[in-house]
Amino acid sequence: MNSTKRGRFAPTPSGDMHLGNAKIALLSWLQMRAANGVFLLRIEDIDHQRSRPEKSVQIIDDLCWLGLDWDEGPGAQEPHSPYFQSRRLELYAEALNRLEAEGLLYPCYCSRAELHSIAGAPHGLASEGAPYSGACRQLTKAERAERARKKTPSLRFALPEVPQDQLLRFQDGISGVQQFPPGRGGDFVVRRADGMYSYQLAVTVDDALMEITNVLRGDDLLDSTPRQIQLYRALGWGEQIPSFAHAPLLLGADGTRLAKRHGDLSIAGLRSAGVRPTALIGWLAYVSGLIDRFEPLMASDLIAEFTLEKIDKEPFIVTGQALSILYKN
Ligand code: GLU
Repeated sequence: MNSTKRGRFAPTPSGDMHLGNAKIALLSWLQMRAANGVFLLRIEDIDHQRSRPEKSVQIIDDLCWLGLDWDEGPGAQEPHSPYFQSRRLELYAEALNRLEAEGLLYPCYCSRAELHSIAGAPHGLASEGAPYSGACRQLTKAERAERARKKTPSLRFALPEVPQDQLLRFQDGISGVQQFPPGRGGDFVVRRADGMYSYQLAVTVDDALMEITNVLRGDDLLDSTPRQIQLYRALGWGEQIPSFAHAPLLLGADGTRLAKRHGDLSIAGLRSAGVRPTALIGWLAYVSGLIDRFEPLMASDLIAEFTLEKIDKEPFIVTGQALSILYKN
């Protein structure tokens, strides 16, 4: 069996790449370069309302500027072409058909208001909001037909029934052992009412078909992992489930996830303010815990010493003072 590791960076081109995204790009690149693996770039532009082609161009340019190259993806080899989710819709449709044929999908007619009314429940797997109650799973054929007259449904994946005491466990390469009770996040959407495939479906299909062995991403997606693992199994790819590693996010001085309101922390903005790529790489390595003291570096300087264990498990708080060093180097 081929044991070459395969990792990826999978940005959503809805905005500029910022420091937080660059941190993930650097860490996933290092993980593959240190393992002599294959690094892929996949553009997650499935949401055509939010995605902007010029942002993909900018992300690609920013990655090149940072010295983070990729072996597969736009402008490189493309054995698993295409590397833009917007051009992979047939593959998602095919996966959905397979789930349908297994009887693992059902239409959901719940309105936004109905979903909000269950939002008071504790947010089990929070990145998708409150756990879904399963209300539409119980509908009879006649009830479905009745509701279909008024509303186009979304499609939900019916989580397999497993005993309550059987936890879904996985070993996270950074965050350690994770365990989730079965069904805790509820049956999740795989195709929205407007026809768009969900992130969970698209990312699972892509990671499986692109033979990804190692997923390294932000820990805001930690709670998506049990969902994706269940999709892997349902789609017959249980043998191919990758190793997951979720790195802490960068936070603004107010303790919330870095965003526009914290100022322009986009790579493009920092570049035009005169920041050098070596300063940025050194800074990212320092805030990730890879080096003890800031120094300007090239990404390739970090390969030999890289291990997942070195990555700091605490989120780094980005203050004006922490950033000031970028401009002096
Ligand atoms: N496209 C997602 C994002 O930009 C990342 C998905 C993933 O790494 O699984 O947040």
